[in-house]
Amino acid sequence: MDLAAAPPALLTRRHLHVGGDWIDPSSGDTTAVENPATGETLGEVPAGTPADVDRAVAAARAAFPGWAATAPADRAAHLDRLHTALAARADEIARTVARELGAPLKLATRVQAGLPLTVLRSMVDLAARPAAEQVVGNSLVVREPVGVVGAITPWNYPLHQVVAKVAPALAAGCTVVLKPSELTPLTAYLLFDAVTEAGLPPGVVNLVPGTGPVVGEALAAHPDVDLVSFTGSTATGRRIAHLAADRIARVALELGGKSANVILADADLPTAVKVGVGNALLNSGQTCTAWTRMLVHRDRYAEALDLVAAAVAGYRPGDPFDPATRLGPLVSAAQAQRVRGHVDRALADGARLVAGGPDAPLPPRGHFVAPTVFADVHPDSALAQEEVFGPVLAVIPFADTDEAVAIANNSRYGLAGAVWSADSDAALAVARRLRTGQVDVNGGAFNPLAPFGGYKQSGLGRELGGYGIEEFTELKAIQR
Ligand code: NAD
Repeated sequence: MDLAAAPPALLTRRHLHVGGDWIDPSSGDTTAVENPATGETLGEVPAGTPADVDRAVAAARAAFPGWAATAPADRAAHLDRLHTALAARADEIARTVARELGAPLKLATRVQAGLPLTVLRSMVDLAARPAAEQVVGNSLVVREPVGVVGAITPWNYPLHQVVAKVAPALAAGCTVVLKPSELTPLTAYLLFDAVTEAGLPPGVVNLVPGTGPVVGEALAAHPDVDLVSFTGSTATGRRIAHLAADRIARVALELGGKSANVILADADLPTAVKVGVGNALLNSGQTCTAWTRMLVHRDRYAEALDLVAAAVAGYRPGDPFDPATRLGPLVSAAQAQRVRGHVDRALADGARLVAGGPDAPLPPRGHFVAPTVFADVHPDSALAQEEVFGPVLAVIPFADTDEAVAIANNSRYGLAGAVWSADSDAALAVARRLRTGQVDVNGGAFNPLAPFGGYKQSGLGRELGGYGIEEFTELKAIQR
């Protein structure tokens, strides 16, 4: 028998993680997990119920006073052990994300496994510091953990999105119930294997997998959840904010984006285009911060389009486990269908196809969409306004900096952006004018200590760094 050709065993999980134990779910129903590169079933997990959410929230509530009273240095020591246990699983995490999301293995190793470890490391260091207290006149102003956190996460960065909530919540002294995406729950199970190995106190962090309408709604509407921290689509974020509003629960929302990459006339064009295309196609375009609108000065526009077409040709869709693959499938048939709809609409709206499109060659199976670029995209058109969440780039010319800023800010979103110029002061001036939560100048570099979040309909609140920990606190003023 050729073992190398044998299909890998199903990745099936049968339990919830509640109160420090792997427990049986209240129902025997399960959710199948698909490999989007093949369409085959990869495994299954329990389909959680509102009764499961009740048990998990009760466990988190019971654990809260003890965890909130734990000294910061001791909480940091727990997070440090969690980091060690998670780091030991880095290869397994990368392979699991490659299988349940379809992310090319190299990217899965560097970003999908590497980024959450970087973020968790930064939280270990921050957790060790006692929350800052301030004397204001006759008041002592203190920060206290907000309580029980309901965390609801998406599939596009299945471990990073989870760690970006769980680690700062635990660092702040909160306890957590996590509902990961039903499309990529297997990676979340690896985190809870690490939680078990690290010996975190029972109930401090709990896992209930399931669908959004059942487990997500039960968690967001739960009377004993103090803060709902959500990452996902703007439509779901709006629904969660409504559910939380009934009891004035706190919400933190990380939502969609339509970010602009502004390339000024004096920019290093080959670098700006190469990095810009890479950013737009990262994770098959399934990245909330993706620079999906490339804004180029008219003087460099024709040159930029040639560079874009050449760069995109390097992103061959294929098997995530083939080292040559730079573009995986989309996460699901529904997502691929939605993205193809955006491409068809852009063609109907008169955008000029520069690369990819509906007729480009694709692997024979799996939910693939070819990397696609449109030029001459009207700033008000659907392609320039809607979040596509696929490997589709819109290139838009501008005449001067004021017009570039106006086009960039012509969006209901405000998550990220970029500016390229040989004049760093000019680039910084443009960065200040963009109505977004983060801007990278001449490529920038990821900083896990910087606040991450959106203006406008891209969200509420901030994750990462000390700002991310503050999100999970209440302020108290004590007058003396
Ligand atoms: P989604 O909103 O469909 O799902 C996100 C999570 O919410 C999943 O766990 C899902 O089960 C749950 N959910 C769905 N309906 C729910 C409901 N009615 N009540 C409670 N929970 C519910 O989003 P998605 O398709 O998984 O992710 C893609 C979207 O996420 C994109 O729009 C993207 O921009 C956004 N996103 C934003 C960020 C950010 O940090 N700003 C990061 C990643 C993804």
